[in-house]
Amino acid sequence: MNTYAVSTNCVEMVIDTGNGTLAVYAPDNPNANCHGYVLQHRIVMERYLCRYLTKNEKIVHINGNKKDNGLVNLKLSSLKEIFNTKQHKEMQSNNMKGSKNHRWIGGIKITKGYISELVYNHPYASTNSRVYQHRLVMEKYLGRYLTPVEEIHHINGIKTDNRIENLQLVGNHIEHLSNFHKKR
Ligand SMILES: [Zn+2]
Repeated sequence: MNTYAVSTNCVEMVIDTGNGTLAVYAPDNPNANCHGYVLQHRIVMERYLCRYLTKNEKIVHINGNKKDNGLVNLKLSSLKEIFNTKQHKEMQSNNMKGSKNHRWIGGIKITKGYISELVYNHPYASTNSRVYQHRLVMEKYLGRYLTPVEEIHHINGIKTDNRIENLQLVGNHIEHLSNFHKKR
């Protein structure tokens, strides 16, 4: 796998591809075409993820405008694939059966009181490929990855209750503490 290199060019050469999308001159990018161009929305997502996209990963323009390449308008379509994998569904159904006395249930593990799952290809997985389940549930609901600064508050205080109705997205750690964990 190629290591991700952030372009040091301040000025980007952007062209209209003629089929509704924009492309950026990035000859060093391994996905560049024979003229050295990469679709701009792919470059924006690569910068966000700090890695190159694979050919199987597609970017969806949420509002349908393929020239609107702001990060909020872009969705990595492979996210859906991740959540639809047989492995993920098995983990979910195992979790539904209840944890009883097992510390490990398939890919599910309790870490610091929170459920984490083994997830492959997740951009924010820990070094041992784990992601907190409450974050995955919220990501599935939102249809996008959470940013590393975003946090999830468990409304009823039960850290393992990861039903979407028990989860609240908060913008960052300070907001989380001041809005939900203020000590009086
Ligand atoms: Zn909280």
